[in-house]
Amino acid sequence: MKNPLDILRERYGYDAFRDKQADIINHVLAGRNAFVLMPTGGGKSLCYQIPALCREGVGIIISPLIALMQDQIAALDQLGISAGAINSAMSMSHVRDMKDQMRNGEIDLLYVAPERLVMPEFLDLLAECPISLFAIDEAHCVSQWGHDFRPDYVELSLLADRFPDVPRIALTATADIATRRDIIERLGLQDGQTFVSGFDRPNIHYTIMPSDNPKKQLWDFIQSSHAEDSGIIYCSSRKKVEDIAAWLKARGTNALPYHAGLSTEDRTENQNRFLREDNVIIVATVAFGMGIDKPDVRFVVHMNIPKNIEAYYQETGRAGRDGLPSNAYMLYALGDVAIQRHWIENSEADDTQKRVEHQKLNALLGLCEAACCRRQIVLEYFGDQCTPCNNCDTCQTKPETFDGTIAAQKALSCVHRTGERFGVSYLIDVLLGKETERIINFGHDKLSTYGIGEEFNKHEWQNIFRQLVAQNLLAVDIVGHGGLSITKKGRSFLRDKEVIDLRSYQKLKNSRTRREPSKLATQLTTEDDQALFETLRTTRQEIAQEKNVPAYVIFHDKTLIELAHQKPQSLQEMLEISGIGQSKLDRYGAVFLDVILAA
Ligand code: ADP
Ligand code: ZN
Repeated sequence: MKNPLDILRERYGYDAFRDKQADIINHVLAGRNAFVLMPTGGGKSLCYQIPALCREGVGIIISPLIALMQDQIAALDQLGISAGAINSAMSMSHVRDMKDQMRNGEIDLLYVAPERLVMPEFLDLLAECPISLFAIDEAHCVSQWGHDFRPDYVELSLLADRFPDVPRIALTATADIATRRDIIERLGLQDGQTFVSGFDRPNIHYTIMPSDNPKKQLWDFIQSSHAEDSGIIYCSSRKKVEDIAAWLKARGTNALPYHAGLSTEDRTENQNRFLREDNVIIVATVAFGMGIDKPDVRFVVHMNIPKNIEAYYQETGRAGRDGLPSNAYMLYALGDVAIQRHWIENSEADDTQKRVEHQKLNALLGLCEAACCRRQIVLEYFGDQCTPCNNCDTCQTKPETFDGTIAAQKALSCVHRTGERFGVSYLIDVLLGKETERIINFGHDKLSTYGIGEEFNKHEWQNIFRQLVAQNLLAVDIVGHGGLSITKKGRSFLRDKEVIDLRSYQKLKNSRTRREPSKLATQLTTEDDQALFETLRTTRQEIAQEKNVPAYVIFHDKTLIELAHQKPQSLQEMLEISGIGQSKLDRYGAVFLDVILAA
């Protein structure tokens, strides 16, 4: 049997295994089942690819993402690894050819979608071939708890019965405890071992801001930190996706929309451009992203609050898989919270599940309004720990707080006097003593709380209300009108005359203008290095275009940065660079060496 570390070095060009990779690989090599939880970008693929290369037979990779299989295979091909796929997008003759290759033991890895795997004909084929392992990627798709549930995944339980001697390894980045349990049960992994990696993604910088002028905030963020970069912008609706994509495009960026309402061709085309070109911004609903292994996504923006902390972490985790500095930037508003609550209420979930979802949303709100380290809150939520990270907005610009007791009392009493059914904007108008038609019609200009809040402006009041919701003194009406009511905790706050500290609004505004260092500024120290990096990037783009593969399949940015910095002077020296194994050296070493020597 081949040695895993030799394969890592020769094929992939990496020095050492990360974190739990070596343990997992040895475990599977011993023929045992495994359940692997690792954050996105943690390096899950190697955990099944390497054992499949070491063991006799073909490794069967079950993935829900037919559209991405071709790129995965192209990437393996560049490493000199023979991989293939069988899926509904292929011609009959191609499928026949793949089957022959499997029978003859000519390929090491085969990608299939679950619906194909469970077809009787396909299972018969598998029974004829030596199989090294089954890898169930995106394993959270078996669980009904997540939003990616796929009925076909449930049938994968048959693998345990049909192929009791073949090791199975299930992998996911979803850390939710209920989902974890579900996966183990449904895939029959009770006898296997669970491997949980640390969930920290230290290269991702987190910023969370109230949304008060979202387009401007977005534009400032992109301009100041990511003018040349690839990124993903998540929006809560198709309409908003179209709107933001068109708006960004009109401002001269390569922004493309992606949502379930587009035709399959348009979706595939936009996804391919995002994967293949260097500075495409994809504006998308949550329909986009699973399985996207583009390593150089430099930023992920949420224009609306996501579903919960799990979803937030999974979506932001799509940034910076290559380990280089990246940004996660979220804008949130109370209106989004009302929409999320409405979705939860109208979902098919039972009451217990709905309660859980509401609590999860509350935890996310708590994260948004936190005055302490964002990373700490998220990691603690997943059961991990860390010290303040100094790589998030709250660590870098300590939020200023003020005694918000009187403000909170005024806000709560305004909610109470107007009958606990109005939304934030209306309540603020009352507090500010506005003479709107609605207020006059309702007679709310006669209330004792009318006009008692003039010491704060509209934005400041919005900030105060958000925090009162996050701290659970006020609740957002779940029927969807966004009306606020006073919670039990809110009532005892009023009754017991408690004090409360709130985050000041001013400080939030300041941190918006802080600029992130660009990735090049931190990695490439001299102008010469930067210029060389750009030339190497152009060379890479030309090769990628000629071969019709994503540029990162040739070399990752990280590899180009190391090349630009180290400037190897021979092919032998190039082998020292991370991401250059024998196969890539043979294919591209000479071309890139020429570029370096000519610089
Ligand atoms: P995941 O599937 O967990 O999101 P990947 O398997 O795509 O992550 O790996 C993320 C990135 O890290 C890839 O670019 C991969 O090549 C790289 N990588 C994985 N393992 C190692 C390692 N041991 N050393 C260096 N780079 C690695
Ligand atoms: Zn921090």
